[in-house]
Amino acid sequence: MVVGCGGFKFQNWAETYGSSPELYFQPTCVEEIKEILDLARQRSKRVKVVGAGHSPSNIACTDDFMIRMDKMNKIIKVDKEKMQVTVEAGILLTDLNEELTKCGLALSNLGAISDVAAAGVIGTGTHNTGIHHGILATQVVTLTMMTASGDIVECSESVNAEIFQAGRVHLGSLGVILSITFQCKPAFHLQEIQFSSTLQEVLDNLDTHLNSSEYFRFFWFPHTENVTIFYQDPTDKPPSSKPNWFWDCFVGYYLLEFVLWISTFLPRMVPWINHFFFRLLFTSRTERVGISYKVFNFDCLFKQHVQDWAIPIEKTKDALLQLKTWLERNPQAVAHFPVEVRFARGDDILLSPCYHRDSCYMNIIMYRPYGKDVPHQDYWLEYEAIMKKVGGRPHWAKAHTCTRKDFEKMYPGFNKFNSTREKLDPTGMFLNAYLEKVFY
Ligand SMILES: Cc1cc2nc3c(=O)[nH]c(=O)nc-3n(C[C@H](O)[C@H](O)[C@H](O)COP(=O)(O)OP(=O)(O)OC[C@H]3O[C@@H](n4cnc5c(N)ncnc54)[C@H](O)[C@@H]3O)c2cc1C
Repeated sequence: MVVGCGGFKFQNWAETYGSSPELYFQPTCVEEIKEILDLARQRSKRVKVVGAGHSPSNIACTDDFMIRMDKMNKIIKVDKEKMQVTVEAGILLTDLNEELTKCGLALSNLGAISDVAAAGVIGTGTHNTGIHHGILATQVVTLTMMTASGDIVECSESVNAEIFQAGRVHLGSLGVILSITFQCKPAFHLQEIQFSSTLQEVLDNLDTHLNSSEYFRFFWFPHTENVTIFYQDPTDKPPSSKPNWFWDCFVGYYLLEFVLWISTFLPRMVPWINHFFFRLLFTSRTERVGISYKVFNFDCLFKQHVQDWAIPIEKTKDALLQLKTWLERNPQAVAHFPVEVRFARGDDILLSPCYHRDSCYMNIIMYRPYGKDVPHQDYWLEYEAIMKKVGGRPHWAKAHTCTRKDFEKMYPGFNKFNSTREKLDPTGMFLNAYLEKVFY
């Protein structure tokens, strides 16, 4: 019999949100999950399933029952012919990447980190970049989940298609995801070429850049004109590392955190910091080659606040220039680097921020040096206002101020998703405070 423990304190990776679940479970099999849901039903408790707890919002918080899936983390099956892998939902992508490499396979795209669980990643619409690539959930072929009643439901394009259309970006609101089958491709190396440019140049030539590299993205350094462009493309070349990586890491970690901490007392230093680090680390052209997942992933340094909205791709220039103009007119507001700009193909997943449109994601960041909070409310609110004006949709994992009224306008399939959710979870067992704002 599965036993839940009391007194557990949950905190997300950035230590910006946390909660104290009444009971905390780490099931090892499907039968134990069923027992937990039975107990929750008997005691009228809500249930929150958590992956790796990396979401920078309260989406994974609860004060009722919490289920951590880290002991359900195995590879169930590798089908080399179809190039598909079926995994338990709690597997970390770090482990999946390594196992896939041994089988000569790889996921075709990944976000910045892999210390995240398969069901968590797809459930919040995690994305990377590449205009011919969808968000990570578009790589899903089949899902199985346990619903609030304890039944197991499988879904794919051909079986329970309506649930599948909702279930890939599920927000943790439909049931406990048990297993996922991903479409893979043959293992590959990526060559990354990094070079500097200006915001005007990259915005004027966006189509050229989008067509010049399979996985194109850029960093803009707020309060400056500076941009660093990254082209990542499959290659047959052998791995080679970036020159000066030791220096980069040292400067990135220790010096940046220290000067950002100083700037909490002297905010006017921030534009200077953005200039200085661009000159120090991002001006020279560099190249490296590595196994795909090691190039997709990069070091996100230290704790931070982030926002990341998807906007229609044709609004990229307009939105970035609006943000730049606002920062110029409001010198009291400071913005850390980088604003990371990525792209994704449109899809047909009901609550995907890229639903039915190719999108640009614009990720803004404010670091928390040594865990210290930095004022960011004005910047956050202005960014959100611009994103809404240009028809944006917020990343589900990241903090935002939107409510049901906003989502009904943003998502043509919102009501369809909600009615599927109500059918699968009529009593709201899988809701929490975050999801109540979304659905009520
Ligand atoms: C340093 C850092 C870098 C990041 N980089 C990127 C990036 O490049 N691109 C991007 O798009 N995002 C990025 N993110 C956001 C991250 O990808 C998402 O927050 C992702 O959801 C985290 O996965 P997780 O396993 O930690 O999920 P959690 O935060 O644990 O959970 C997320 C949601 O999934 C649900 N869930 C998890 N497992 C299950 C399950 N088995 N059944 C049902 N529901 C479940 C939870 O209930 C919750 O609603 C980053 C976050 C950090 C901290």
